[in-house]
Order: sequence, then structure tokens, then C-alpha cells
Amino acid sequence: MMQAYDIAVIGAGVMGTNVAYQAAREHPDKRIALIDRDKIGAGCSGYAGAIISPISLTAAHQQQTALSRDWYEDPALGCQHLLRQLDTLIVYSDASQETLNQKTDLLTPVQCEVPGWLSPPSDLQLSQSRATLWGNVFEICQHLAYANDSVDVYECLAVRDFKRSDDGWQLSMSDGRTLHAGQVVVAKGAWLSAEEQSCDLIINRKKVVAYEIDAPVDETSPLVYLYDQGAFLLPLLHKQRWIMSITSQQWGCMPERHECEISQEDRQIAETILQQHAPSLIGALRGGRCHSDGYVRERRPQVVASQPGQLVIGGGSGSGFRFAPAVGRQACELLFSNSTV
Ligand SMILES: Cc1cc2nc3c(=O)[nH]c(=O)nc-3n(C[C@H](O)[C@H](O)[C@H](O)COP(=O)(O)OP(=O)(O)OC[C@H]3O[C@@H](n4cnc5c(N)ncnc54)[C@H](O)[C@@H]3O)c2cc1C
Repeated sequence: MMQAYDIAVIGAGVMGTNVAYQAAREHPDKRIALIDRDKIGAGCSGYAGAIISPISLTAAHQQQTALSRDWYEDPALGCQHLLRQLDTLIVYSDASQETLNQKTDLLTPVQCEVPGWLSPPSDLQLSQSRATLWGNVFEICQHLAYANDSVDVYECLAVRDFKRSDDGWQLSMSDGRTLHAGQVVVAKGAWLSAEEQSCDLIINRKKVVAYEIDAPVDETSPLVYLYDQGAFLLPLLHKQRWIMSITSQQWGCMPERHECEISQEDRQIAETILQQHAPSLIGALRGGRCHSDGYVRERRPQVVASQPGQLVIGGGSGSGFRFAPAVGRQACELLFSNSTV
């Protein structure tokens, strides 16, 4: 017998799991399918650093960031053990000070512990800003996926194709089954196909890279944000390592593993930054994590109602963890506004 759902969410990264979770909480009577070709959170989300960055490019970024932060920190969500607040140091040049002041919460004199390895050139400034929120994105995705009984989770099962039917959508699964859903949400990250994109949502794939650095971490270690380089060093207490996120310049990178690896160019970027700010860490560079993400002009994910009964979400833009709760809310508003479910 064909399984029938009110909503099918294709892709269970941080976007898809947020949509499924919020839809289930708002409408516990609706039946929801959450489907991923891999394990929950095993796409780009499973590789993320990941922080809610203290830097906001626009007022919309700032507003959505505040919403997301409150959402993650709400004790009712049950994710507090997967989050940490980190003191935040920002290193910047005089030339950047004015733009930085517009993009971040008030900069204050440094009061937290400064890591011994940090030695920025004397012409750079060092300030403290509001604490940064770190989250274990892989575990958060798992938590969101399995938190509601009304969500049926399908892992390691790809949606090969989905087509309109008289009363919704028919989804053809990789194991030969067919599911039916009243509405469909496509949240496939960098796997979003050309057909699934539209003039309102065109993604450019880009590699997101972070190195791991084998240097001591303790409870007082702060996040160090190197503003002019678009890089940050994040202490991971549970791994006793630092993660150094850099801005890779590799566009057009497909998410398949062999197409998305840390390159010599990435290492040069990392070493150049460390040479300037923390030369003693160069020898402690280990492997890292990297994945392709979909980027959009707005630099925050977009939710597009591309056809009746179909939402497409894309454009994590290297900040999907930060914006996913706001995206989930937006998607639910559209799903339940002139609801056909
Ligand atoms: C190294 C690194 C550091 C990062 N740091 C940060 C950070 O500090 N802060 C931040 O906010 N963001 C950060 N990001 C970015 C963030 O991780 C992404 O923006 C976010 O994970 C994108 O989520 P998504 O759900 O759109 O995509 P994904 O997590 O890739 O999810 C898409 C899912 O769709 C599934 N899928 C694809 N095709 C199908 C199909 N046919 N059928 C079923 N399922 C399918 C995939 O298996 C995948 O699980 C970082 C990323 C990386 C790699």
C-alpha cells in the first residue's frame, strides 16, 4: 500500500530537519515524511564548524540571526547540551573598524583570556564582542529529526524523482517504493538540481573549508575571529582541538567526496593567515573538514514557493546553521498559509 503524507521533506540537513521539526510542532495532526539519501545530517551540515557568527552583513541577517539564536537556546527544544557560549575576540585593522562597527554588536575592551599563540601584528586591533554560540550541528539534526512521533524518518533512501499528481505529489524512492504527499519541501543543499532551481533561487556551489589544529583547549578558550581575513579559530573542547575556518575560493565544487577535498591552495590560505597571526600553530595543522554548500547573492538561505504545493530551500551560503531556524519558520508560514494539506 502506498504511504500517504501531508508533507514530504526531501533532504535532512539542518534546513530539512528544522522544517520537519517546526511543522510537526505547529501541526501535530499532520503526517510528515523526512527523507535523506544518506544518514540524517551527513551532508554539509555534518561537516560544519559551526557557529552563529558575530558578524551580520545586513539588518535582515541580524534579525534572522537573533531569531535563530533564541530558537536554539530555548530549553523546550532540548538542545542545550549540544550548544556552547564562547567568549569572542575580534582582530581587525584600523581600516575595517568602521564597517565592523556596523556589522557586529558593540566592541568592548578585551576582558577574556587571550590564547598564548595569538600574536597579531602591532598595527591590528583586538576587541571583544558579544559571546558567540557554537552548536554540534550533526547531533542537532539527529535530535530534530527524531523528536516528533508525527515525523516518519527515511534514512539512506534517495528520492529519485517527484511528480505532480491529482491531489499532491508522487515521490519515487530509490528502493522502488512510491510515497504520496500533499506538499513537498526540497531541501537538498548543494545537491539542488538545475530543474529544482528557478529565477528566484539560483545557487552557486562553493567549497567551505575548515582545518583542525592540534593545540590545547580549555573552558576559557575564546573564539578568535580574524575579521580582515574572513577566518576564525574555534576551540572544540570535546576534541581538544581548534578548528580554523578559512574562505576557500573554489567555486563550482560538486558535493561528491572526490570533487571536494582540501587543496594545496586552501593550505596556502591557512598558512598565510597563521603566519601573520599565530605562526606557532602552522606545525599543528592537521586534516580538516570540507564540503560544498549552495551560495546565493543574499548570503542567507532562501525559501521559494516555486509551484503550488512545492517549496524549495537553498543557499546556506556557509551560514546554514545560523539561519536554519528562521528558514524553518518562513517555510512553515508558507506551508500552512493557503494550505492544501
Ligand atoms: C567546514 C564547514 C564549516 C561551516 N561552518 C559554519 C558555521 O560556522 N556557521 C554556519 O552557520 N554554517 C557553517 N557551515 C555551513 C553549513 O554547514 C551549511 O550552510 C548547511 O549545513 C547547509 O544545510 P542544508 O540542509 O542546506 O544542506 P545539507 O546539510 O547538505 O543537507 C542536504 C541533504 O539533502 C540530502 N539529499 C540530496 N539529494 C537527495 C535526494 N535525491 N533524496 C534524498 N535526500 C537527498 C543530502 O544527503 C543531505 O543530507 C559550514 C560548513 C562547512 C563545510
